[in-house]
Amino acid sequence: MAQTRAETHEIAIVGGGLVGSALAYGLARAGAEVLLLDAGDDSFHASAGNFGLVWVQGKGLGLAEYAALSRRSADLWSGLAAGLAEDSGIDCGYRRTGGTKLALSEEELARFETALKRMHNQAAPGDNDTRIVDRGELMDLAPAIGPAVVGGTYCPHDGFADPLATLAALRRALLRRPKVRIVTGKVTGLSGERGGGFTLSTASQRFRAGTVVLAAGLGNAALAPALGLAAPLRPQRGQILVTERLPRFLDLACHTVRQTGEGTVLLGDSHEDVGFDRGTSQAVARAVVDRAVKTFPCLADARLVRQWGALRVLSPDGFPIYQESERFPGAFLMTCHSGVTLAAVHALELADDLLAGRLAERYPAFSAARFDEAVA
Ligand SMILES: Cc1cc2nc3c(=O)[nH]c(=O)nc-3n(C[C@H](O)[C@H](O)[C@H](O)COP(=O)(O)OP(=O)(O)OC[C@H]3O[C@@H](n4cnc5c(N)ncnc54)[C@H](O)[C@@H]3O)c2cc1C
Repeated sequence: MAQTRAETHEIAIVGGGLVGSALAYGLARAGAEVLLLDAGDDSFHASAGNFGLVWVQGKGLGLAEYAALSRRSADLWSGLAAGLAEDSGIDCGYRRTGGTKLALSEEELARFETALKRMHNQAAPGDNDTRIVDRGELMDLAPAIGPAVVGGTYCPHDGFADPLATLAALRRALLRRPKVRIVTGKVTGLSGERGGGFTLSTASQRFRAGTVVLAAGLGNAALAPALGLAAPLRPQRGQILVTERLPRFLDLACHTVRQTGEGTVLLGDSHEDVGFDRGTSQAVARAVVDRAVKTFPCLADARLVRQWGALRVLSPDGFPIYQESERFPGAFLMTCHSGVTLAAVHALELADDLLAGRLAERYPAFSAARFDEAVA
C-alpha cells in the first residue's frame, strides 16, 4: 500500500448504500464532519436492487419495537423527501399511497388474518391500522385486480420511493455539504487506536476518525470483528422483473407488484437462500409473473424488459442491529433488512441519537446482545 499521511475526520462511515448514506446525511445535517467511504464496486448493493417499498404492515411480529420503528420512519418519510428535494433538487418519488398484500385464495387470506391477529396481540403493536379488506373494498382501492383476488390486507402508512433516486439525492445532498468528504475505496484495514480513535485504510489511502460507523451491508460481517463487534449477517436473494411502460393501472403499494412513476412495473418478492449468487432464474421469473398476472390480468401481455437478482442483508432474526462496540467505544455497527423503509428514521432520528450518545438507551431492542454468544 502506498502510505500517505492519514486524513483525519470526526466520523467515518464505511458503506455508501442506503443505510450509510442516510446516516451520513443525518449526521451532516446535525453539523458533524463526515467521511463516507464506499467500495463503489457494486459488490452486493441491495440499495440499488430493491423493490422500493416503504412498508409498515407486518413489520415487527416478535419485536414490537421494530413495528414502532418502521411506523416512525414512514411518518418521517415525507420530511426526508422534502429535505432531500431542497438539498439536492432530486425528487425521491416518495408516495404514501397505502399498501396492500393481495390474497389469491381463502387459505392465503386466512394466513394473513392470523399474522395480523398475532401483531395486534403484541404488547405494543406499533401499527394497529393494518386491517383485512374484502374484495369489494379492494376493487375501490385497486380496480385492476383480477377475479382470483379474494381479499387482502390494507395499511394506510405504506407507500414507496424510488430507491435509485433516493440514493442519488442523498449522494448529491452530501456532496453539497462542505463538511462531508466522499471517497471511493474498499476499506481493507480497520483498527482501534490506543487512547481512542480509529484508523481505516483502503488500497491507497489511510484515514483517522474519532468515530467509525460500519454501514457496509453484507460487507459488515468481515469488518466488524476488528472493532470488537459481531455482524452475523447472511444474504438472501430476491429477484425482480420489470415490464415496459404501461398505462397507469396501480397507484397503491402492493408487495408483489409496483407501478413506478414512469409507468414501468416491478414484479417481485421472491426469497432464495443461494449464498452470494446474484444471478436470476427462469423458474423464479415464471412464478413471479404467474402470480402478478393472476393478481393484475392487465399484465398478461406486458413485455418484460429486465430481470435481476439482489441480496438482502439479514440478521439472524431479521431485525436491525444498532450496536456500539464495548471494546472500542465510538465504533458502531448499523445494519437492517429494510433500508428504504428505515432511511427516514436513520437520517432524521438515529443519526441524532448516535451523535448524542443515546444509542444504547434509545434502541436497546436492536442491540446485538440479543445474539449474545455471538458478541465479541
Ligand atoms: C430484492 C430486494 C428487495 C428489497 N425490497 C425492499 C423494499 O421494498 N423496501 C425496503 O425497505 N427494503 C427492501 N430491501 C432491502 C434494502 O434494499 C436493504 O435493506 C438496503 O439496501 C440495505 O442497505 P445497506 O446500505 O445496508 O447495504 P448495501 O446496499 O449493500 O450497501 C452497502 C455498501 O457498502 C459498501 N461496502 C461493502 N464493504 C465495504 C468495505 N469494506 N469498504 C467500503 N465499502 C464497503 C458496498 O459497496 C455497498 O455500496 C430489498 C432488498 C432486496 C435484495
